[in-house]
Amino acid sequence: MTNRARTYKTEAIVMRRTDVGEADRVLTLLTPEHGKLRAIAKGIRKPVSRKAGHLELLTRVDLLLAHGRDLDHITQAQSLDVYPQVREDLARLAHASYVIELLDRFTVEQQEAGELYLLLRWALSTLDDGADPGRLARFFELQLLAHAGYQPELRRCTVCRREIVAEDQFFSLLDGGVVCPRCAETRSGLIAIGVEPLKFLRYFQAQPWSKVAGLKLSQGVVSEMEYVLQRYLVALLERQLKSVEFLKLIRRQAQ
Ligand SMILES: [Zn+2]
Repeated sequence: MTNRARTYKTEAIVMRRTDVGEADRVLTLLTPEHGKLRAIAKGIRKPVSRKAGHLELLTRVDLLLAHGRDLDHITQAQSLDVYPQVREDLARLAHASYVIELLDRFTVEQQEAGELYLLLRWALSTLDDGADPGRLARFFELQLLAHAGYQPELRRCTVCRREIVAEDQFFSLLDGGVVCPRCAETRSGLIAIGVEPLKFLRYFQAQPWSKVAGLKLSQGVVSEMEYVLQRYLVALLERQLKSVEFLKLIRRQAQ
């Protein structure tokens, strides 16, 4: 006989949800101690449900869960943060959805995710506080890549290991980092990267958000940073992210 408690408490962020059966919903949650997990909220789609308002997407909640045979059951939910500014602004909402989906793709269920939880919680509240959504997304991408073991090498050529000098370089999707112009002739799958975007990618990688947030960046540099990171992420995930398509759609609509 094990002494396993029947219920447990946790803080969580609601990442995804799927309706099941007549009135139930399965939620994908990110928690600090139990990592990513799926849990069922019984009867949540009934008009009388008291949990419904606390378990919307993009909500940080305190939960009481009961161990179930298949999925754990959410028995109590109390929202802690609903990120109202994110919900009201389409660009912020799109970027919040994007960082969540990206994190979802880079995590597996039931694996401790304390630091990633803090990273996501930070990203959502910082977006809610008015941060530049694109800049925050790039910063998040680099942080997430580092956590996931895919930190791009931006200081030394990934082929000859020589230190990169201030000239236009290449980025190798396969090697996950920069390739100097001399080695570039021997490699395929490279994309060009200018001196400035490379410099700022390094800065984003090494400096805290408080410094990154205050930088002056031209639109061209921002676009090139985004392009390189997106190509790298897509290559890593081997398929286009749905939210990347969503962001493109939003941009087209804004033009
Ligand atoms: Zn080289």
